[in-house]
Amino acid sequence: MSDKKPGKKPEGPAAIHCKVKACKHSPSKFEFCAEHFDQFKFGLINKHGEPCMDFEKKQEQYEHFKHPHKKHA
Ligand SMILES: [Zn+2]
Repeated sequence: MSDKKPGKKPEGPAAIHCKVKACKHSPSKFEFCAEHFDQFKFGLINKHGEPCMDFEKKQEQYEHFKHPHKKHA
């Protein structure tokens, strides 16, 4: 006996939007879109999608992290 119906995923009460309020992307991981998940991993935003205290400072570091081989013109 099996209740499994292959091919159909159960649709839970998962978020339909990225946790970051201003963001309209659909979530990819941990209710963040791919971009904001990276920011969360980096510590730019907390798990609620809110910017951390030194957000601006970290944002610079994040840009370097995202583009580590940026060439100078
Ligand atoms: Zn997002």
